[in-house]
Amino acid sequence: MRIFNVGNNGVNLFLLDSGSHRLLIDSGFPDKLHDLGRRMRETGFKVQNIDYLVVTHFHIDHAGAIQELKDSGVKFVLFDMQMNYISGMEKMMEGKWPYKKLLMNDNVVLNIDKSRYFLSTLGIKGQIFPTPGHSDDSVSLLLDTGEAFTGDLTADYLMMGKNSVENQTWTNLKKQNARIIYPSHGKMYEIKDAYTSSE
Ligand SMILES: [Zn+2]
Repeated sequence: MRIFNVGNNGVNLFLLDSGSHRLLIDSGFPDKLHDLGRRMRETGFKVQNIDYLVVTHFHIDHAGAIQELKDSGVKFVLFDMQMNYISGMEKMMEGKWPYKKLLMNDNVVLNIDKSRYFLSTLGIKGQIFPTPGHSDDSVSLLLDTGEAFTGDLTADYLMMGKNSVENQTWTNLKKQNARIIYPSHGKMYEIKDAYTSSE
């Protein structure tokens, strides 16, 4: 599995290349496809070579260019649990951004519990699951090898307090062997306090 950061404008966008397929995690801001294309050059692929797109959550810097990517031939996987969060984002952007409205008739709508099977069809061993905290529609992609793409989830080393939703999310991520964290903003890092069942 090759992992590329093709991010731009302050957002990390991760491209997974399994050899047979390419999956992009997050779309970035609206109207920045040119910047994505420039970063894609370093990977040897073009935007048109991306098979599928998933978004970690519906905020403008993550999901602002979904339709633009679809118009370039990328298929968008919409998780059922994210569906109700599209209109909130689109309302906030109205008149403020050169945003292309997300068409609803041609997305690949997927129950998130089926993500492991879906990823396997792309040659990717891993899973996508809800990781609430930053927002209720937040999801993370976790590879079986321990790399986790966590969107805007507060970094593990910045967590304070014990009872927050994010703490529970982190407990779950560690239980499932998340080791190397790729956040949407900032640098990747390794989890230091590995989860043990005696905790
Ligand atoms: Zn966000």
